[in-house]
Amino acid sequence: MNTVEAREFDAQRARMVEEVEATYADTRAETGLAAMSPQVRGALGKVERHRLVPGAERAWAYRNHPLPIGHGQTISQPYIVALSADLLAPQPGHIVLEIGTGSGYQAAILAEIVKQVYTIEIVEALGRSAEAKLKEMGYRNIEVRIGDGYAGWPEKAPFDGIVVTAAAPSVPQALVDQLKPGGRLVIPVGERWEVQQLLLITKKADGSTERRNVLPVRFVPLVPKD
Ligand code: SAH
Repeated sequence: MNTVEAREFDAQRARMVEEVEATYADTRAETGLAAMSPQVRGALGKVERHRLVPGAERAWAYRNHPLPIGHGQTISQPYIVALSADLLAPQPGHIVLEIGTGSGYQAAILAEIVKQVYTIEIVEALGRSAEAKLKEMGYRNIEVRIGDGYAGWPEKAPFDGIVVTAAAPSVPQALVDQLKPGGRLVIPVGERWEVQQLLLITKKADGSTERRNVLPVRFVPLVPKD
């Protein structure tokens, strides 16, 4: 890629950050978040989203819209990626799990902030492609696993945060079990292809959970466990 192209992508990315910030302001009443945290804003301004989307979608990489990534899958708009990250209240020492690697963009955003990201993708071709691109981009703190995210990743548990980036019919108990006390789970819950609710589930010190409906959203469905 030449420098003119690179500069153009930088400018588009800067505009995207401002659009996401404006969407935060517009949705403040529902989400309770008036602005992006400096960490998430910094990550959004840094991660080269155009390197993670399919070649044919590069020109639209920095629009605040969902994008197709092949295999019948769609990745969320940057605002939802930012909001999901902020809801996790990520800290530098955190270990987080993502279900639904897709393009690898959400994983990259989180990897800019936390210590380690584990991510599970059920479509092997997507998982392998994201893994290769993330490696090429220099991420050393993201581990991709091919498999069914319903069961979480018990060998790496417990997690400070878990983000599910496909809609589930209900909250998988395995994921709640794999949260640390004080840990947070962000997950869209609802019927397939309908509007879902983005939920924030917080595990309290005594192991009980608190649940908040954050925003109506539309995600591709989590492929159900057989
Ligand atoms: N976080 C992604 C967006 C993913 S779209 C990104 O930033 O690009 C949802 C992804 O979840 C798709 O790639 C889909 O293949 C994957 N998926 C669906 N069901 C799954 C399951 N049961 N376990 C793991 N991944 C799943």
